[in-house]
Amino acid sequence: MWALHFYLFSLQSTSVAVRRQCPADRRKVMAKGVLVDLTKCVGCGSCTVACKMYNKTEWTKRPALPDSEGERLAAAITDANSLGIEKKYAPSSGENAELSAENWTVIQKRRFDKETGKCTSHQPGKDITALGIDIHIHSADAVSSATKTDGSEVWRYIKRQCLHCKEPACASACFAKAFQKTEAGPVVYYPQLCVGCRYCMLACPFSIPKFEWHKPIPTLEKCMMCSSRVNQNEAPACVSVCPTGVMKFGDHDELLKEAKEIIAADKKYEQHIYGEEEAGGTSWIYISDKPFAEMGFKTTVPKRSIPSYTNKYMHFTPVFAAAWAAVLAGLYIITGIASRRMKINKKTAKEGTEENVPSKNVPK
Ligand code: SF4
Ligand code: SF4
Ligand code: SF4
Repeated sequence: MWALHFYLFSLQSTSVAVRRQCPADRRKVMAKGVLVDLTKCVGCGSCTVACKMYNKTEWTKRPALPDSEGERLAAAITDANSLGIEKKYAPSSGENAELSAENWTVIQKRRFDKETGKCTSHQPGKDITALGIDIHIHSADAVSSATKTDGSEVWRYIKRQCLHCKEPACASACFAKAFQKTEAGPVVYYPQLCVGCRYCMLACPFSIPKFEWHKPIPTLEKCMMCSSRVNQNEAPACVSVCPTGVMKFGDHDELLKEAKEIIAADKKYEQHIYGEEEAGGTSWIYISDKPFAEMGFKTTVPKRSIPSYTNKYMHFTPVFAAAWAAVLAGLYIITGIASRRMKINKKTAKEGTEENVPSKNVPK
């Protein structure tokens, strides 16, 4: 019980200390965002390298299997060699690039038939998120696995990372406050507060946080929107290196206004800004000339923020926690008293028995 009290106290004090360190809490900052124009990306991958260099994330060799995260996981936790699976670097760009604990951002390639405009790349048909593991089932009508270079295809590249929701479900689900939304926009993760429950993975509607399954002491990993740079009003590392100006950093509301003007002025764009309404709105917003569903974006995400579904129940969490602590304290006291009574009774019974036994020295 004292250990529980100590843990809760240290959790609270660390959380306060971390929040104190966050510059965005000390001063009022205009919420920042990034506008991504997918028509401008040439797939050079510079942004993924900049992210790795700035955040010092590893280039790790993993069992590389084509389609199944489940098989990759099985191979990661058993011995990949014994399964005859070759280990390769997890790609950070290309058709098989996926976000991982090391790849906080990836560039995914999609191919489209020039005549029909239909996507000919394999693409996720359905996402099943169970126990925080994403299993991608590829659509049955995947047309071809070979890239055509005869001019009959056009290619598009999609930069993926955390969208930094305005009301993040990950932060709402995390009772340890390991995920926190800063006023400047980034949703920041504090591994020192994380207890590894992985509720954040289940809560995120975009399947962003990734768990370090392969490490003995794992943490969650995701893009932090280079919060230390953003808090100084500097563009994130990936944004700053892009040679074609795909991403624009600035005040979120201004960027949203600009995105609306761009798509209204040029009908090649889809008349939709991804992230304007999805999950209640996100700090990173996208415009595209191809349908977002075919670009691999989740288009079934509700417009309402995810925490708004649970807010009225979450109010009861502190009450429940306090009541549960009181129940545990009560049980501790009751079992303590009972155990002490049992010890006294045993001792008394033993002494009583000894008193009744005639001493050898007692004269007859
Ligand atoms: S995209 Fe997912 S991980 Fe990123 S802020 Fe939103 S809920 Fe959290
Ligand atoms: S914002 Fe920073 S952490 Fe996020 S993908 Fe870009 S470089 Fe990586
Ligand atoms: S977003 Fe920019 S840096 Fe990243 S791959 Fe596209 S063109 Fe290159």
